[in-house]
Amino acid sequence: MDCLFCKIIKGEIPSAKVYEDDKVYAFRDIEPQAPVHILIIPKEHIASANELTEENASIVGHIFAVAAKIAKEEGIAEGGYRIVNNCGQDGGQTVGHLHFHMLGGRSLAWPPG
Ligand code: AMP
Ligand code: ZN
Repeated sequence: MDCLFCKIIKGEIPSAKVYEDDKVYAFRDIEPQAPVHILIIPKEHIASANELTEENASIVGHIFAVAAKIAKEEGIAEGGYRIVNNCGQDGGQTVGHLHFHMLGGRSLAWPPG
Protein backbone atom coordinates (compact mmCIF):
# COMPACT_ATOMS: atom_id res chain seq x y z
CA MET A 1 0.00 0.00 0.00
CA ASP A 2 1.30 3.42 -0.93
CA CYS A 3 1.09 5.12 2.45
CA LEU A 4 3.67 7.67 3.59
CA PHE A 5 3.33 6.87 7.29
CA CYS A 6 3.41 3.08 6.71
CA LYS A 7 6.72 3.69 4.91
CA ILE A 8 7.98 5.75 7.86
CA ILE A 9 7.04 2.93 10.28
CA LYS A 10 8.94 0.44 8.08
CA GLY A 11 11.95 2.77 7.94
CA GLU A 12 11.68 3.15 4.15
CA ILE A 13 11.41 6.92 4.65
CA PRO A 14 13.60 8.47 7.37
CA SER A 15 12.05 10.12 10.41
CA ALA A 16 13.12 11.60 13.73
CA LYS A 17 11.82 8.89 16.06
CA VAL A 18 10.66 9.90 19.53
CA TYR A 19 9.02 6.68 20.71
CA GLU A 20 8.24 3.20 19.44
CA ASP A 21 6.60 0.06 20.77
CA ASP A 22 4.83 -2.89 19.15
CA LYS A 23 1.65 -0.89 18.48
CA VAL A 24 2.68 2.75 18.11
CA TYR A 25 5.30 4.94 16.45
CA ALA A 26 5.99 8.61 17.26
CA PHE A 27 8.21 11.02 15.34
CA ARG A 28 8.81 14.75 14.87
CA ASP A 29 6.66 16.57 12.34
CA ILE A 30 8.75 17.66 9.36
CA GLU A 31 7.04 21.10 9.40
CA PRO A 32 6.77 21.88 13.11
CA GLN A 33 4.02 24.33 14.08
CA ALA A 34 5.24 24.64 17.69
CA PRO A 35 8.54 24.10 19.55
CA VAL A 36 7.33 20.53 20.22
CA HIS A 37 5.35 18.99 17.32
CA ILE A 38 5.23 15.22 17.38
CA LEU A 39 3.05 12.84 15.38
CA ILE A 40 1.83 9.70 17.15
CA ILE A 41 0.52 6.97 14.87
CA PRO A 42 -0.71 3.38 15.16
CA LYS A 43 1.46 0.80 13.38
CA GLU A 44 -1.73 -0.70 12.04
CA HIS A 45 -2.86 1.18 8.94
CA ILE A 46 -6.10 2.96 9.87
CA ALA A 47 -6.99 5.54 7.21
CA SER A 48 -8.64 8.10 9.49
CA ALA A 49 -10.73 8.57 12.63
CA ASN A 50 -13.69 7.61 10.45
CA GLU A 51 -12.31 4.07 10.28
CA LEU A 52 -12.25 3.58 14.08
CA THR A 53 -14.54 0.83 15.39
CA GLU A 54 -15.11 -0.97 18.69
CA GLU A 55 -12.63 -3.56 17.37
CA ASN A 56 -9.66 -1.25 16.70
CA ALA A 57 -10.33 1.87 18.83
CA SER A 58 -8.39 0.69 21.91
CA ILE A 59 -5.26 1.92 20.12
CA VAL A 60 -6.46 5.49 20.71
CA GLY A 61 -6.31 5.01 24.48
CA HIS A 62 -2.82 3.60 24.15
CA ILE A 63 -1.79 6.56 21.98
CA PHE A 64 -2.96 8.99 24.69
CA ALA A 65 -1.05 7.05 27.36
CA VAL A 66 2.06 7.24 25.17
CA ALA A 67 1.42 10.96 24.65
CA ALA A 68 1.42 11.56 28.41
CA LYS A 69 4.78 9.78 28.65
CA ILE A 70 6.23 11.78 25.77
CA ALA A 71 4.93 15.06 27.27
CA LYS A 72 6.96 14.42 30.42
CA GLU A 73 10.06 13.53 28.43
CA GLU A 74 9.72 16.61 26.22
CA GLY A 75 9.20 18.87 29.26
CA ILE A 76 5.74 20.10 28.23
CA ALA A 77 3.59 18.17 30.72
CA GLU A 78 3.57 21.04 33.22
CA GLY A 79 2.99 23.85 30.74
CA GLY A 80 0.39 21.92 28.77
CA TYR A 81 -0.07 20.92 25.18
CA ARG A 82 -2.67 20.06 22.58
CA ILE A 83 -3.42 16.73 20.91
CA VAL A 84 -5.15 17.10 17.55
CA ASN A 85 -6.60 14.70 15.03
CA ASN A 86 -7.50 16.10 11.62
CA CYS A 87 -10.11 13.93 9.89
CA GLY A 88 -10.95 14.18 6.21
CA GLN A 89 -10.97 17.14 3.86
CA ASP A 90 -12.76 19.67 6.07
CA GLY A 91 -10.65 18.56 9.04
CA GLY A 92 -7.47 19.32 7.11
CA GLN A 93 -6.17 15.74 6.94
CA THR A 94 -3.41 15.46 4.32
CA VAL A 95 -1.96 12.01 5.12
CA GLY A 96 -4.35 9.04 4.97
CA HIS A 97 -3.02 7.19 8.00
CA LEU A 98 -4.53 8.00 11.41
CA HIS A 99 -2.25 10.34 13.34
CA PHE A 100 -2.41 12.54 16.40
CA HIS A 101 -0.48 15.81 16.47
CA MET A 102 1.06 16.66 19.83
CA LEU A 103 1.79 20.39 19.99
CA GLY A 104 3.43 22.20 22.86
CA GLY A 105 6.17 24.49 24.04
CA ARG A 106 4.21 27.68 23.40
CA SER A 107 0.77 29.08 24.17
CA LEU A 108 -1.67 27.85 21.50
CA ALA A 109 -4.57 29.88 20.13
CA TRP A 110 -8.18 28.74 20.36
CA PRO A 111 -10.43 28.26 18.45
CA PRO A 112 -8.52 26.73 15.52
CA GLY A 113 -9.04 28.27 12.08
P1 AMP B 1 -2.45 16.29 8.64
O1 AMP B 1 -2.44 17.56 7.85
O2 AMP B 1 -3.23 16.34 9.90
O3 AMP B 1 -2.79 15.10 7.78
O4 AMP B 1 -0.96 16.09 9.14
C1 AMP B 1 0.06 15.56 8.35
C2 AMP B 1 1.35 16.02 8.97
O5 AMP B 1 2.39 15.20 8.48
C3 AMP B 1 1.73 17.46 8.62
O6 AMP B 1 1.85 18.21 9.83
C4 AMP B 1 3.07 17.31 7.89
O7 AMP B 1 3.97 18.34 8.20
C5 AMP B 1 3.56 15.97 8.39
N1 AMP B 1 4.46 15.27 7.50
C6 AMP B 1 4.33 15.05 6.18
N2 AMP B 1 5.35 14.33 5.70
C7 AMP B 1 6.17 14.08 6.76
C8 AMP B 1 7.40 13.38 6.91
N3 AMP B 1 8.02 12.79 5.90
N4 AMP B 1 7.96 13.34 8.16
C9 AMP B 1 7.35 13.95 9.21
N5 AMP B 1 6.17 14.59 9.13
C10 AMP B 1 5.60 14.67 7.92
ZN1 ZN C 1 -0.49 3.67 6.48
